[in-house]
Amino acid sequence: MRKKTREIVVGDVIVGGDAPITVQSMTKTDTSDVEATISQIKKLEASGCEIVRVAVPDQNSALVLGRIKRNIGIPLIADIHFNYKLALTAIQEGVDGLRINPGNIGSPKRVEIIAKAADERKIPIRIGVNSGSIEKEFLDKFKGPTPQAMVESALKHIGILESLNFYSIKVSLKASNVMDTVTANRLISEKVKYPIHLGVTEAGSFTSAVAKSSVCLGILLDEGIGDTIRVSITGDPTLEVRAGFEILKALNLRKRGINLISCPTCGRCEIDIPFLLQQLEERLESVREPLTVAVMGCVVNGPGEARQADIGIAGGKGEGLLFKNGEIIRKVQEKEMVTILVEEILAMVNS
Ligand code: SF4
Repeated sequence: MRKKTREIVVGDVIVGGDAPITVQSMTKTDTSDVEATISQIKKLEASGCEIVRVAVPDQNSALVLGRIKRNIGIPLIADIHFNYKLALTAIQEGVDGLRINPGNIGSPKRVEIIAKAADERKIPIRIGVNSGSIEKEFLDKFKGPTPQAMVESALKHIGILESLNFYSIKVSLKASNVMDTVTANRLISEKVKYPIHLGVTEAGSFTSAVAKSSVCLGILLDEGIGDTIRVSITGDPTLEVRAGFEILKALNLRKRGINLISCPTCGRCEIDIPFLLQQLEERLESVREPLTVAVMGCVVNGPGEARQADIGIAGGKGEGLLFKNGEIIRKVQEKEMVTILVEEILAMVNS
């Protein structure tokens, strides 16, 4: 059962409350390179990203945020470290949200200045606590960057915003250690009603990041904790979005796009499943309607899975049986499988 959190609005996307759990990503371009940044955000949009964050390390990056915002279709969040003046510029440029790390933004007074400006523009602030940048007072008190230290850091800064009557808050507590992240988020979810952004920071390359994020987000989301997620991956950010949706779909929290079921293949496999899968993933990436598609290598588990899916192929020697809604429709030659499957699937989602 999802824990009830307060709703906040990020651009035109609701986060928290009963709103769907959203999938976010972050650009990896130099933000001041406007063309490259817009181009990457467009690719993220096409992959289904619902909120995008950009790093704002300097004034050049802050000053182009308005241009970027005018050229994209999803809410834009400015990620600010160290320099509160950059946050003020980002707000003036019309961003839809701010992420600040209170541990390195400086004095509470600076957080206060940012909060006042954000309140005037009605944009939310994410208090993003990372285990790598917790304030010294909490490191000393808890003898290191423990989950409790992260929680106290977050609570302190939430308290500052609340004392200013600023409640459009989202909170994230991220550690590179999965179980510390789990513990920190469990603790904070008991203490505040603000929506929670989940993620494992510095999660690593694709395999490591997806494994760590699936475990961490899987545990927390299954306990009802989390309103928006990011799967941090060192690499192509569109993979973050795909992985994010796969985690949510696996937990039955979102229904979206093609749910591809494919066998791992083995010595019995009679058709080229990896090729088929790759082709389907590429050609069906823009499909948003939920549909289960099975591609199976042989007759052992093939007909069973293909029958249970909305549409599927059970491989035979150089050919396969095409199933649709539980019925065998026809035999398909291997060389025409991709074309026929894509045609059938598009016809199903467009009907
Ligand atoms: Fe092997 Fe057939 Fe199972 Fe695929 S469906 S893993 S080819 S036994």
